[in-house]
Amino acid sequence: MKISEILKKKEVTISCELFPPKKGSELKKAHEVVRETAELKPAYISVTYGASGGISEHTVDMANEVQNKNGITALAHLTCASSGKEKIQQVLGELKEKHIENILALRGDIPEHLDFPLPNQYHHASELIQEIRDFGDFCIGGACYPEGHPEAESIDADLENLKRKVEAGCEFLTTQMFFDNNILYNFLYRALKKNIQVPVIAGIMPVTNVNQIRRITSLSGTVLPQRFRAIVERFAENPAALKQAGIAYATDQIIDLIANGVNYVHLYTMNKPDVAGAILNNLSEIYHAQ
Ligand code: FAD
Repeated sequence: MKISEILKKKEVTISCELFPPKKGSELKKAHEVVRETAELKPAYISVTYGASGGISEHTVDMANEVQNKNGITALAHLTCASSGKEKIQQVLGELKEKHIENILALRGDIPEHLDFPLPNQYHHASELIQEIRDFGDFCIGGACYPEGHPEAESIDADLENLKRKVEAGCEFLTTQMFFDNNILYNFLYRALKKNIQVPVIAGIMPVTNVNQIRRITSLSGTVLPQRFRAIVERFAENPAALKQAGIAYATDQIIDLIANGVNYVHLYTMNKPDVAGAILNNLSEIYHAQ
């Protein structure tokens, strides 16, 4: 099913995210993670592509596993920084063959050791979106940044670029993680003022281990509210307590979002079905699985 259709239902919609293994030998375990995540019956499951600049050979395979073996709509990510135009055509053909209809079109992180863009590469996500549209009949999503993309000249310039992305054919947007809901509410207001009308899905990252915290604090510009910092400081040395507190923090964020009319939530659960399950369990009277 196309995600644009799922989002038309106006119900609370919660989706999850998985990343494919780097080595083929780890696929079997990854398929287990797909199965356990699918059992939670999220609205759809997204599968990342080439995160940290690498190519992902297993995104299509994982998306196929999600949709055709486990019966949950798949959203395959695709980035143009880690793949040239020929590779993109190849992946689009594979997705079409497997009846995967939803693509999150991204530029991706620029590989440090490469000149970017090479002549056979798209420069911006908007160009990739145009290419996917020309290929035909995919539902295309894109990324957005409530705190502004770190490379953007200004918040306003970033929103202008986002508008271009939507005009190129992006039918929904998923946000970068944020830890203060006011940042999202502010962004939604500014996006509407720019006449960006497509559904925006709020990306929530349950922070459940110290490595994640290190990664987040290395991201430039991510505001970490005092309440979040206090949790990290208090529980950083106690993995079980940190996990419980991280799940509670994410649950709290989601309840506030839904109470304020934000019906679409994407969980960056990063191959942790137990974390996704705990959050959905906390929301059992609020969110009803598909
Ligand atoms: P773009 O939309 O191209 O924007 C990148 C920068 O260029 C921004 O500063 C923007 O303002 C500017 N820009 C855009 N268009 C123009 C234009 N026409 N002219 C001038 N400037 C322009 N990375 C991965 O490698 N794999 C993944 O699977 C992955 N999944 C993600 C999922 C989500 C929901 C999010 C939020 C991010 C994800 N990322 C992923 C990270 C993402 O690829 C990076 O944040 C990347 O730096 C930007 O990608 P983008 O698609 O937003 O790029």
